[in-house]
Amino acid sequence: MINSSEARSPEFPAPGEIISYLDMCKQWGVSFQRGMHFHLRPDVSVILMSRRKNAPYRDAIEAGGLSLKYEGHDLPKTKNCSNPKNMDQPRKNPGGSLTQNGLFEKAVLDAKKGIKPPEIIAVYEKIHRGIWAFNGFFHLTDCAFESDGIRNVFKFRLELAEKSLETSQGLSNELAHTRLIPSPVKLEVWTRDKGACVLCGAKDNLHFDHDVPYSKGGSSVTAKNIRLLCARHNLSKHDNIE
Ligand SMILES: [Zn+2]
Repeated sequence: MINSSEARSPEFPAPGEIISYLDMCKQWGVSFQRGMHFHLRPDVSVILMSRRKNAPYRDAIEAGGLSLKYEGHDLPKTKNCSNPKNMDQPRKNPGGSLTQNGLFEKAVLDAKKGIKPPEIIAVYEKIHRGIWAFNGFFHLTDCAFESDGIRNVFKFRLELAEKSLETSQGLSNELAHTRLIPSPVKLEVWTRDKGACVLCGAKDNLHFDHDVPYSKGGSSVTAKNIRLLCARHNLSKHDNIE
């Protein structure tokens, strides 16, 4: 089997990698100021999620880390809209063009009609101020426009995209099976390990490491079997397996 660290495309991080906000911006060549970026590259969209206490939207990790529910975005706050949280999330801009919500919704409808393949989305999750984790590549598979009790919001369903990882990103199967680590566990591990590799104290190129890989029956549920490793120690660990 190809070692996952060797197989990974140099262009994208591997799922579970921790990346600073600045490096994330450098990687995509943009300054991220919002969460939804349809077709940031011709074949990939980008979504930034957060499950932190003060997060503006209700994003959720579901199905044991295989899918995500991502809430669409509100109207911008303006003179005419002082409380966007009371207003339906917009599908179109005032000029009639589609908002990010509308673009992602159209991608779902086109995929359902068979006009286009499911949109591929790179998902990053905020762990701490300036610190993000790459959650992997997902397929955008469904969309609902539903009441949150006050107004209507978009709810997008994203499913971990194993096929896309293998084909367009050239990643190994083992890596593609990496499920998402629940957000509270990410934060707990990050805080416990003080944002540094537990073996050498390095603070860059960090990765959430499963002590026992999923493929060998490891569970992601608790912080006990997750630790921070730098790229060098992550690689040397993989070399010892098999
Ligand atoms: Zn290290």
